Amino acid sequence: MKITVLGYQSPAPGPGGAGPGYLLETDKGAILLDCGSAVYSRLMQYLPIEKLTAVIMSHYHHDHVCDIPILQYGVMMATIQKKMDTVFPIYGPTQPAEWAERMKYEKYTDLIPFNADSELEIAGVKVTFLRTDHSVECYAMKITDGIHTIVYGADSGPETIWGSFVNDCDLFICEGTFTTPLAPSANLGHLTAREAAQLAAQSNAKQLLITHLSPDIARKEYESDAAAHYHGLWSLAEIGKVIAW
Ligand SMILES: [Zn+2]
Repeated sequence: MKITVLGYQSPAPGPGGAGPGYLLETDKGAILLDCGSAVYSRLMQYLPIEKLTAVIMSHYHHDHVCDIPILQYGVMMATIQKKMDTVFPIYGPTQPAEWAERMKYEKYTDLIPFNADSELEIAGVKVTFLRTDHSVECYAMKITDGIHTIVYGADSGPETIWGSFVNDCDLFICEGTFTTPLAPSANLGHLTAREAAQLAAQSNAKQLLITHLSPDIARKEYESDAAAHYHGLWSLAEIGKVIAW
């Protein structure tokens, strides 16, 4: 498995940046995890749309979903040019319903709903889900090829009940939206970089990638917030970063 960061910023990208989007490639296909602002053009740097097997959406907040209509235009054009001839699958939650409905676009894309009990087999990997603490229906994803395991934590507040979902994974892609000094007092459904590091340590994750970063907070602030709390291999997300086995 190989995962490439296409974008990682929230809620709006900085200059030349991109919202959340991660390209997972296997021997059998390619899956896009979330589709934020500028993710489609970043995706095109790696493969044409007809080579993408599926999209899996964690949830439908604007920063994660806003390039889906553009991806749908990409599928439409590839279909018209006879590079694609089947309905393209977008896996996603069923709520909010009006957003779930937007995953369907004429004969080009369709929504395949999942929930916490679903187990998907796509592109040679198994994907399972955990509902997170967030203001809309949102799911973390555990992806395994039977040898290595990636957990993408999606958007997750401090009250997410992780159980053993993250335990012993090879890579934990965890949001650290805030730094501890800048964290709001109310639960906004997000973690700090420090909480991401602590969660990775508690879960014995072998590697941590802290993501969902604000372009308005300096990277060194995120780094110093997390550094003392996880002693494995870790880094902040950056566009083009690749982790592979
Ligand atoms: Zn969100």
